[in-house]
Amino acid sequence: MHATVADPRVQQIPVTDCGEPLIQLSIGAPDLRLDHTETNLAHLGYTPDFRLREAVVRRIAQVQTRLDGQYHLLIKECYRPLAIQTLYFDHYLSRLRAAHPELDETTLYHEAAKYVAPPEYATHVTGAALDLTLLNHKGIELDLGTVYDASPGASNNACYTAAQNISREAQLHRAVLTAALEAEGFINYPYEWWHWSYGDKYWAYGSHAEQAVYGPVST
Ligand SMILES: [Zn+2]
Repeated sequence: MHATVADPRVQQIPVTDCGEPLIQLSIGAPDLRLDHTETNLAHLGYTPDFRLREAVVRRIAQVQTRLDGQYHLLIKECYRPLAIQTLYFDHYLSRLRAAHPELDETTLYHEAAKYVAPPEYATHVTGAALDLTLLNHKGIELDLGTVYDASPGASNNACYTAAQNISREAQLHRAVLTAALEAEGFINYPYEWWHWSYGDKYWAYGSHAEQAVYGPVST
């Protein structure tokens, strides 16, 4: 079993934030494609400004360079403000509390955390994590095996990066994405093929680093 973001082995990793600013991808990596479609905005529930920490922007631009000529990255989400993460979690928690008045607060918290990351564990709030997929050289979104942000239940666990219950073509596309991102030091969250990070706690865990260099950004 892979560690989840809430796993004590991940959470016990110390963070010494290096203080790098958040930079807009449209400025720091202007060649990247950003998903501004209504579908994506409706899915996210807010209008993102596609910002990441400075060194992460440089690295993701390098990933695109590696793919050049054949594929484009399509960025779905980057930095998510802590206030929005808190709102998502609290909203889900209150729905759960209303549906299950028999559960105590500790149980409710753990149940909610299975579906929405609690603000203290969330990775997008660090500006070190991003969600992305792959386009072909014509700019058409490729088959990666599931839709972006598919849940394990809805996809029969096909959202897990190493899933075998997807087509060979989709496996190939995941392999292309993985090779390019890993070559620039990114670590994947193995339960979600689209989620990658550099410098947060999950990255430190996956790359055996002593500590994380990016913690939550409060803006
Ligand atoms: Zn993500």
